[in-house]
Amino acid sequence: MKKFVFATNNIHKLKEVAAIVGHQIELLSLKDIGCHDDIPETADTLEGNALLKARYVYERYHTNCFADDTGLEVEALGGAPGVYSARYAGEGHNSEENIKKLLHELEGKDNRHARFRTVFALIINGKEHLFEGIVRGEIITRKRGTSGFGYDPVFVPEGFTQTFAEMSEEQKNKISHRALAVGKLCKFLNTL
Ligand code: IMP
Repeated sequence: MKKFVFATNNIHKLKEVAAIVGHQIELLSLKDIGCHDDIPETADTLEGNALLKARYVYERYHTNCFADDTGLEVEALGGAPGVYSARYAGEGHNSEENIKKLLHELEGKDNRHARFRTVFALIINGKEHLFEGIVRGEIITRKRGTSGFGYDPVFVPEGFTQTFAEMSEEQKNKISHRALAVGKLCKFLNTL
């Protein structure tokens, strides 16, 4: 079985990605390899941050690995919060505050188009590869649902009426930006 480190300690993401990659890949978290560092995410693009994290692990642990970075890109806000989605309302990664700020910034705006964009950076035997997943949708005016995390309660994906937070984990995993990017990554791994 192929073994990869997924450079995250976010339990939601680990579960989401593990469900997508299935049994063909053994996934290890940062904790599993004894990495307790707060890996710097100082790039100003999703691609840059995903690569920073993957390189950090590859250079120190010499193990094939991948890392992701995701942003919510809101059309009327010129693509913000984008790469700064986690700390939109300031350091502390507080989803409640981030959502509050987002809804405030969008007050009175008709254009509520947004998209989640995920980039995965894979390093396999020293070679780097990038995979992208995008889900388009709308930001609603108040929170709905309790599943998921982050901006899920205010994001309704195109073609649906429920927010991501009103969907089951399984349903979200089928259509999410992360699922699309991981799907591409798995397809690539299967060609090796
Ligand atoms: P990360 O790069 O995956 O850690 O994502 C950065 C930030 O984007 C997170 O802190 C969340 O606020 C938001 N985010 C990422 N993925 C999702 C998702 O699937 N649903 C809602 N928010 C997300």
